[in-house]
Amino acid sequence: MTVNEREYMSGNTSLVTSWNRLSSRFLPFRRMFRNCENSRCGQRSVLWPLWMRGSEGMRLQGRWYCSPDCFEHAAGNAFLRLLPMPEGTRRKSHRIPIGLLLLSRGIINDAQLKKALALQREQGNGRIGKFLQQIQAVTEQDITAGLGAQWGCPVYPLGRARDFLQCSSLLPLTLLETGRMLPVHHIRFQQTLYLAFVEGIDRTALYAVEQMLHLRTIPCIVSESALLEALEELRHISHAPTTVFERPIEPREMARTTRNYAWQVDATDVWMARSGRFIWIRLQTAQDSKDILFQALADVQ
Ligand SMILES: [Zn+2]
Repeated sequence: MTVNEREYMSGNTSLVTSWNRLSSRFLPFRRMFRNCENSRCGQRSVLWPLWMRGSEGMRLQGRWYCSPDCFEHAAGNAFLRLLPMPEGTRRKSHRIPIGLLLLSRGIINDAQLKKALALQREQGNGRIGKFLQQIQAVTEQDITAGLGAQWGCPVYPLGRARDFLQCSSLLPLTLLETGRMLPVHHIRFQQTLYLAFVEGIDRTALYAVEQMLHLRTIPCIVSESALLEALEELRHISHAPTTVFERPIEPREMARTTRNYAWQVDATDVWMARSGRFIWIRLQTAQDSKDILFQALADVQ
């Protein structure tokens, strides 16, 4: 906003304030106006007409802010809330271990499980499924089916289905690569998205997608090789531009950066959510969207 515009706006304040008094008594008027959601905003008592809301302010998580400063203040608070990893959403579980599950189903025997566990100890890391495959006790399909049973999720036939090509662009490619996940099937009229994982379900990712895209998610499992193949295919398809900040930055700097990008692309709405090790920002413009990914500081410290 220029200085002249600011003067014009403050000159207009008394007129708008009169409208406030009038509109507060009549519900139809209230629908035409809205307050800035920043509790510290100096213009808070002003009810902004709809046309002014569109040209000056911006919505963050569906709440409207009258100016870049108010937006940045709200974004800074939102980042502070999003940075700590939400409780109970980490990718650990109290589920029956995959080795025991395969044993109980008679897919492997005791000796094979012991051999795979010994290999895992020797290497110091790696998933048990990998070592069971290495000693040829199981196939990749056995592991995928076992993971489906372990997580109580359907196994999605990604090798045969091509629907992911239509819905992959719903999420930034970097999030798919780092989270080892893939949107595989989108039922538009039900606003439902099937989101596939290879090692187990990441609840933060499911929650983030529901928040950002305003649809219901259903988790499923796919085989690792099919996921890697699909991701490789996606790298050759153009995606909406994503700006990735690999180095962690302070929440206040994230807020300033988000503000700058939001005004630069003339966003109408800004949404943000935590997904895995990133905070995912979507700047929605009238025509399309732009994504920003911030490395979540708390994880790196
Ligand atoms: Zn404000």
